[in-house]
Amino acid sequence: MHTVKFLDIGATYRELKPEIDEAVARVLESGWYLLGAELEAFEAEYAAYVGAKYCVGVGNGLEALQLSLLAMGIGPGNEVIVPSHTYIATWLAVSQVGAKPVPVEVSEDTFNLDPELLETAITPSTRAILPVHLYGHPAEMDQILTIAHKHGLRVLSDAAQAQGARYKNKRIGGMGDVTAWSFYPGKNLGAFGDAGAITTDDPQIADRVRVWRNYGSRVKYLNEYQGYNSRLDEIQAAILRVKLKHLDDWNARRSRVAERYQHALTAANLTLPTASDWAGHVWHLYVVCTAERTRRQAHLKSMGIDTLIHYPIPPHRQQAYAQTDLKSQNLPIAESLAERVLSLPIGPHLTEAEQDQVIKAILDGCQK
Ligand SMILES: *Cc1c(COP(=O)(O)O)cnc(C)c1O
Repeated sequence: MHTVKFLDIGATYRELKPEIDEAVARVLESGWYLLGAELEAFEAEYAAYVGAKYCVGVGNGLEALQLSLLAMGIGPGNEVIVPSHTYIATWLAVSQVGAKPVPVEVSEDTFNLDPELLETAITPSTRAILPVHLYGHPAEMDQILTIAHKHGLRVLSDAAQAQGARYKNKRIGGMGDVTAWSFYPGKNLGAFGDAGAITTDDPQIADRVRVWRNYGSRVKYLNEYQGYNSRLDEIQAAILRVKLKHLDDWNARRSRVAERYQHALTAANLTLPTASDWAGHVWHLYVVCTAERTRRQAHLKSMGIDTLIHYPIPPHRQQAYAQTDLKSQNLPIAESLAERVLSLPIGPHLTEAEQDQVIKAILDGCQK
């Protein structure tokens, strides 16, 4: 029996091997490995791609979020509104700058921050809203930006899972104050190691992140700030430049897989994901909900299908927050989703035969 991997990251290399080998060799031969021409070119190309004035490459997605918060002057005593259902990195960035993550529940239709619930969470200490474009579905930016504007709050988006996504025909990445990106290998645009970036139209935020990612230094051995070391290296930048040219095509292939699942799985006794009509969804993950998750997942495993759970424990229930008052938050939607979500294989290199195998196994499993 053929095993269907959850995601075949190696396939991205195999498809582009000559181009990637050439890019890596070019960097190795140049003798220049950090903060050079490849990063500068990638930053310009990615800013143009997402429609933002500035892009600054950093070490990873978590640091992209942290540096964004620091650049907006957010720290101890401040509150930042985060979704109750997300990868914990969103919350950790807020905690690590000394601010308090304040969770707001998500809408079960989009898995994203429910704008209707935002205003009740705003206090005099709130400084920012941090929506996540989870699973590749854009957050409801118009409503979030309107509420932020009304209350004088900043908007930082976590776009780690949404490279190429569009909100009402406009790419996310130039909306709000700043957008944080991760290029972790498994993301829609992934490096072959750690990498991240911020995009923004605000020259002050771009400048601060640019200086802070490199020891708070603009000129070598002159340190203006107590900065960090968070750099996107030349090899990863060169690889990302190659992959960026294929991102739209790969996202289109993901959409085709999602469309096939949507049609074929209507009778599968699962709650299928939806895309809002204004959403340019990039299907980082295809997440279904089922009350019988343990049985359905085991059945798929027995049929050679790998699945994952994003995420089995909500951030407020993690040991990491056990010593804080976040632990006792009442977040029934996040807790219920953590028990029901199941991610099916999806990716630009999932073959039609593999998609058929997934569909057949799921339909077979719902009759058991
Ligand atoms: C991957 C991810 C991050 C963290 O990115 P890293 O590059 O791994 O640090 C943050 N937020 C979300 C929603 C993610 O999926």
